[in-house]
Amino acid sequence: MILEAAADLLVAAMGGVVGSFANVCIHRLPRGESVVSPSSHCPSCGASIRPYDNVPVVAWLWLGGRCRDCRASIPVRYPLVEAAVAALFLASRWLFGFTLAGVAGAVLAAAAVILALTDLEHRLLPDEVTLGGAALGLSLAALRGFHPFLESVLGAAAGAGTLYLVRVVYRAVRGVEGMGLGDVKMAAMAGAFSGAAGVLLTFFLASTAGALFGLLSTILRQADWARIRRRGGAGGSGLLLAADGRIRLAGARWRAIPGAAAAGSALSDSGPAVRPLLALLRLARMRRRTGKETTSFGRLVLEEGEFFRVLAVRVEPAGEGGSLVLLWRVDLPFGVFLAAGSLLAFGLGRPLLAGVLGWPPSFLGSLLP
Ligand SMILES: [Zn+2]
Repeated sequence: MILEAAADLLVAAMGGVVGSFANVCIHRLPRGESVVSPSSHCPSCGASIRPYDNVPVVAWLWLGGRCRDCRASIPVRYPLVEAAVAALFLASRWLFGFTLAGVAGAVLAAAAVILALTDLEHRLLPDEVTLGGAALGLSLAALRGFHPFLESVLGAAAGAGTLYLVRVVYRAVRGVEGMGLGDVKMAAMAGAFSGAAGVLLTFFLASTAGALFGLLSTILRQADWARIRRRGGAGGSGLLLAADGRIRLAGARWRAIPGAAAAGSALSDSGPAVRPLLALLRLARMRRRTGKETTSFGRLVLEEGEFFRVLAVRVEPAGEGGSLVLLWRVDLPFGVFLAAGSLLAFGLGRPLLAGVLGWPPSFLGSLLP
């Protein structure tokens, strides 16, 4: 019992230390800085962080969330990342014990946390983590610790191949980059750890989580819509259209869209980015004429450099046959869901796939020496 508890404590402490390193990666990798040197310093005053102030989670608590030197506040994200990685390390130990699978689970957990947060904050999935993680997953599989090496290779190929295909199709259909190459590399990593069946389960879990999140945020956004409308509606976030399609009022969020027509001109003078909105308006007018629905929802996907931005759109009737268009920014970086899906698939899906489907089949292991 005591040994077990000591082992848990040790694993949690290791997770905390790795989580602390994950924080360094999340901060520095998107900025193109080295994660090894210089040693940790306060981003506000530049003072080096003393070793005893670098103890995961605990240090943040005893420093009261502030830098010892300049009293600048340290975001609560830091201890949360450390605690999350520690918890995932523990989960991996409980699921797989002190085995190579347990090590693989811990490595995947650290990579997933780093990737989810850099994607959330910077819309970036650094190669160091995605490709480095894929290499680690393949290496661990090559040690024949948790599944056949060939299964790992197949998984990486299936993961990258599937998302690459999605990217090509999405670009052909929508004319925008649906997914960066970062997602493709991240899927290769997930596949290296979870295998071919595991990575498909990862995609299923990730897209289910994404859809649930979308649904939930639509419901929660009802309150936001009400607030936008109270704040002067179109003047703040969207636009007010006259019956003839001319823009009577254009809000800041509308004006920020590249190629968006200015107030006074016709909405159809806008650039290609706004085309889905024109279709949505036509649909809304049609529905209104048949007396069915009065409010329509849609999405605008805008290119922003390498990435894309998603605006939720709500169209409702305004006086004299006009329409009120409300715009709300929604961001669904797929890397966040991919990270969660890959952890679930590795932790819970692998035993499931092995037990229920007998996957990976034993011949995969026997194909290689
Ligand atoms: Zn400081």
